[in-house]
Amino acid sequence: MADCIHLLPDAVANQIAAGEVIQRPASIVKELIENSVDADASKITIIVSDAGKTLVQIIDDGKGMSETDARMAFERHATSKITKAEDLFAIKTKGFRGEALASIAAVASVDVKTRAKGEAIGTHIRISASEVELQEAEACPEGTNFAVKNLFFNIPARRKFLKTDQTELKHIINEVQRVALAHPEIRFKLIHNNHDILDLPKGNVKQRIVNIFGRHMENNLIDVKIDTDIVRLRGYIGKPEKARKTSGEQFFFVNRRFMRHGYYFRAVASAYDRLIQNNSYPQFFIYFDIDPDKIDVNIHPTKTEIKFTDERPIYQMLHAAVKEALGKFNLVPSLDFEKDETMGIYSGPRTGFKAPDIEVNPNFNPFEEEKKSASSFQSKSNYPTENFNKNTDDLKHWQNLYPEQESETTDQQQSIPSEERQQTQFFQVKQRYIITTVKSGMMVIDQTRAHERILYEQFVALLSHRKGIVQKSLYPVSVQLNPEDFALAMELMEKLNGLGFDLSVFGDSSFVINGLPADIVVDDPKRLIEELLENYKTQSGEIKPELDQRIAWAMSRTSARHFIRVLQAEEMQELFYRLMECKVHNFTPSGKAIISIISVEELEKRLK
Ligand code: ADP
Ligand code: MG
Repeated sequence: MADCIHLLPDAVANQIAAGEVIQRPASIVKELIENSVDADASKITIIVSDAGKTLVQIIDDGKGMSETDARMAFERHATSKITKAEDLFAIKTKGFRGEALASIAAVASVDVKTRAKGEAIGTHIRISASEVELQEAEACPEGTNFAVKNLFFNIPARRKFLKTDQTELKHIINEVQRVALAHPEIRFKLIHNNHDILDLPKGNVKQRIVNIFGRHMENNLIDVKIDTDIVRLRGYIGKPEKARKTSGEQFFFVNRRFMRHGYYFRAVASAYDRLIQNNSYPQFFIYFDIDPDKIDVNIHPTKTEIKFTDERPIYQMLHAAVKEALGKFNLVPSLDFEKDETMGIYSGPRTGFKAPDIEVNPNFNPFEEEKKSASSFQSKSNYPTENFNKNTDDLKHWQNLYPEQESETTDQQQSIPSEERQQTQFFQVKQRYIITTVKSGMMVIDQTRAHERILYEQFVALLSHRKGIVQKSLYPVSVQLNPEDFALAMELMEKLNGLGFDLSVFGDSSFVINGLPADIVVDDPKRLIEELLENYKTQSGEIKPELDQRIAWAMSRTSARHFIRVLQAEEMQELFYRLMECKVHNFTPSGKAIISIISVEELEKRLK
């Protein structure tokens, strides 16, 4: 048989390579602005027409190219960024594969005008479908100016697959945002069909975020910071109440390169667990700083997927850093207790209520809870000390509903002085809703959901302290379970006993309930256990919370379900303030709304 293998002509090989790297106008934008960043530009202007289908132009003030380099740059595997294989593990630049320009020039017409720093004259090269059409000396500013015209003009099949201008433009904006967020020290300008889309002055990361996403971000960002031997993490996360229904404001950067990472995404999302509604997405801008030889950037042509050597430990660090940031902030979502009298609630007859003190305990950190004494907290806090003088009557109210609560949380977190509490009026509707007035109108609280949230936080605290609590002893009740449930019960037994249950194994598939936590109101302990197991099993969502949280969740749901009854004024008061002192008070652990505020305007509309 005659030999039939031959090398493909360069133009064809380049076109094939372009298939991977250049999918749409946004790919060109990405590659070219990354080249400008690598060329140490301090200003990058991106001009596009028709969502980049007819023109993508990138102008930078970087170091430019000599005449020979400008010509070489379009060869496949031509790069100034690495020279040997080992360099692949010490990459500090955005590019290194040397294929972007060759690929772009294979599927479009490219004009480049460039002048290297210190050179008197620049170079102009035109390449179309891999053919050099023009090369000449030309006077031009220092830096580089690429104009890419008529993308895919020579591959109609691919041109046909481009989406609407709106979609393609959106991709372009995304790419620019990613590089811009990674490099706030560079000025970026994006112009589409003569309209300014982005104009981002130099600044720090926070200013860049605000410039891109709007002023509302300013008060929404919480610092994240962790330093370890493996990785350094910096950045911001959004407050839970600002989580959005659409993903989008979620960014990881590794050594200043945008990255997608599903596994790390879950590390962040799971730290928000129980703080945001199901199906909403927290915002985050997290920058990883890591030794380049601990990652592999070269696993995908577009370099947005990155492999980490220490993937698992980093997951844990990231998760802990986000959790700590959320904890430190000790967020009180939705009821924006502003720093002054503009806060929306508690106006009515109450006076002298210090709103900001409820809002934030800046020193609160769930990881240090045990170490910190109440006094050290008080000294750092700006909470007026006299407000801590609780009278004994007050304590009694607290004990009515949540008996063991005089310990931990009351001291650790801010409690609301009794004289403040007594002045707020509450009404109950249908044994299910509690109503009170707030500055902006009327607040409706779902009683069982509020109860569930309070119990949940209490159980989580108890479980984390592993502290036995008072048990109500019972006439022993035995529970027979199917093998699966029995296995689960065995698994959870120790934890449940830590919560104040007194359970012991009895035979092959049954156990005995000797006692229950003091604060659980049930008439059928057997059903409680069955329900608890059921609730535990059916907890949905793709993120599985930790064991403690799952138990706490199941417990709170089970015990709160029956909380439909007439409440005395004091009990409503207690429930309300306990809810306000929860870390999260607007959603149940399963993400259902607890509070609804009906504004005066809404009432006015209804009564028109
Ligand atoms: P890579 O970025 O992987 O090196 P490219 O094909 O994107 O490959 O670019 C090839 C080379 O062209 C780069 O290594 C760089 O030396 C040069 N180059 C590209 N764009 C610019 C620019 N805007 N300013 C200066 N040099 C550039
Ligand atoms: Mg490049």
